[in-house]
Amino acid sequence: MTTHEVLNQPPPLVGYDIAQDAALLAAVDREGAGWAVADLHRLGTLGGTAEPQRWADQANRYEPRLITHDRYGNRVDEVEFHPAWHALMDVAVGAGLAGSPWDDARAGAHVARAAGMFTWNQVEAGHSCPISMTYAVVPALRNAKDLAATYEPLLVSRAYDPGLRPPLGKRGLLAGMGMTEKQGGSDVRANTTTATPDGAGAYRLRGHKWFTSAPMCDLFLVLAQAPAGLSCFLVPRVLPDGTRNVFRIQRLKDKLGNRSNASSEPEFDDTAGWLVGDEGQGVRTIIEMVAMTRLDCVIGSASGMRAALTQAIHHARHRRAFGRALAEQPAMRNVLADLAIESEAATVLAMRLAGAVDRAHRGDEAEQAFRRLAIAAGKYWVCKRQPAVVGEALECLGGNGYVEESGLPRLYRDAPLNSIWEGSGNVQALDLLRTLRRSPEALDAYRAEVAGHDPRVDAALAALPRDPDESAARRFAERLSVILQASLLVRHAPAAVADAFCATRLAGDWGHAFGTLPAGVDQQAIVERAAPR
Ligand SMILES: Cc1cc2nc3c(=O)[nH]c(=O)nc-3n(C[C@H](O)[C@H](O)[C@H](O)COP(=O)(O)OP(=O)(O)OC[C@H]3O[C@@H](n4cnc5c(N)ncnc54)[C@H](O)[C@@H]3O)c2cc1C
Repeated sequence: MTTHEVLNQPPPLVGYDIAQDAALLAAVDREGAGWAVADLHRLGTLGGTAEPQRWADQANRYEPRLITHDRYGNRVDEVEFHPAWHALMDVAVGAGLAGSPWDDARAGAHVARAAGMFTWNQVEAGHSCPISMTYAVVPALRNAKDLAATYEPLLVSRAYDPGLRPPLGKRGLLAGMGMTEKQGGSDVRANTTTATPDGAGAYRLRGHKWFTSAPMCDLFLVLAQAPAGLSCFLVPRVLPDGTRNVFRIQRLKDKLGNRSNASSEPEFDDTAGWLVGDEGQGVRTIIEMVAMTRLDCVIGSASGMRAALTQAIHHARHRRAFGRALAEQPAMRNVLADLAIESEAATVLAMRLAGAVDRAHRGDEAEQAFRRLAIAAGKYWVCKRQPAVVGEALECLGGNGYVEESGLPRLYRDAPLNSIWEGSGNVQALDLLRTLRRSPEALDAYRAEVAGHDPRVDAALAALPRDPDESAARRFAERLSVILQASLLVRHAPAAVADAFCATRLAGDWGHAFGTLPAGVDQQAIVERAAPR
């Protein structure tokens, strides 16, 4: 540096605890996982160090590579990952973020895992895909008792054991899902892959899939047309006798983001599969997996927003312009506070949904009804907010935010994904309308949750349209989510956050971009609460 001194550049955000997050910790306690807080802080402290941040960068910079054949020309269909990917996966599985809550009798086990996902996903989002699918596969697999008895003990394991080998010889397994085909992803009933009974209790699959992520997983749930209609099958990559099942990976997707994670186009040809659930009930069976991955979409989007927000606040506190720290500039403070409100609303909703899942799986029927509607609304709206929040947070860093090393471009590229997969925006909103019609008890449970705490929330609830049609589906889903978020904030967040949320998101005293909070909001307190520690 012979020409100048480096001045006014913020230090990197390292040496903090990602889990030291007031909104998160209060929610963990409230939703019944206070016992997990020490582990959460350990995970958050690790995530806040330089090494995992390097893993995140490397796993995305050195992308997975498809190896179709070995050196002798044998088909192998493997994907090679950078060691950084394996390091991230090892921590995630070891921290119990994959299948382990299904093997944990403690109340709040799913909440503890959700909080861990929220925390560790802030380090790197791509590897959360196989972690999430492994978590989600268990309830669906339980529709085939024998298969569940065989594989569940390894899906709930905390051992990350990569590589294609016979499943039962491994210390832990990962699972994926193959639904989407070229001609349709939302409308999976259009699947053309066939499944023919082999006469010995299994089926032979023939066809293709257009998006199958994490193809190095050990097991997949795959939809295919059996004699009685669309059905769900367990497809292992390696057969019990050690030979490879046919899983020909044509290519890997060249994606906008999520680049650390491999998403593939596999072909099945005489591929062995075992029926899960009844023949003809494929959608009903796999939807139990999809319900769990939808929860993870909400957690992932809340986590992505929080990761971007903490970077923005950190930068604005250290960077000065026109004689003051950016965070002290009134216009910037309004932006940061507005982002912080959106982030906290997403966090409390994600954790409330995780609590509902936890209690529903322990037999609470009211929570089961509540989660049906609330996850659909949350998946629609929280995922929709992520690109907007991340884009604005990126701008808080100015030009530095546009540069890869800041980490914000990665967060930005990853931001639209949760809204696309596991039910894209419209499909999610339409699903919500279907739930409304088929399960009126879900709306009753939703009303019981949100009503009676605050007149502003009650007024918004009373103004909900009674029978929205398809064209109004998005608006209805958004409103349902915002009302639920408001109700959670008025009960559980400081008044500064809750009042600002109600004034803007419920009552509409707001602009069309972030940074348009009305006068009278205690922006300083809101930013202070959200700052990384
Ligand atoms: C990175 C990535 C990884 C993925 N991994 C997997 C995976 O592991 N396994 C898997 O099975 N799939 C996977 N997918 C596929 C994903 O689930 C689908 O892309 C998604 O479900 C949408 O399906 P589609 O792409 O066929 O779009 P389409 O179904 O063609 O939908 C296109 C658009 O039309 C809208 N739409 C559809 N129906 C209606 C309607 N009735 N009214 C109004 N609008 C409608 C949708 O909301 C969407 O916006 C992945 C996708 C991505 C991007």
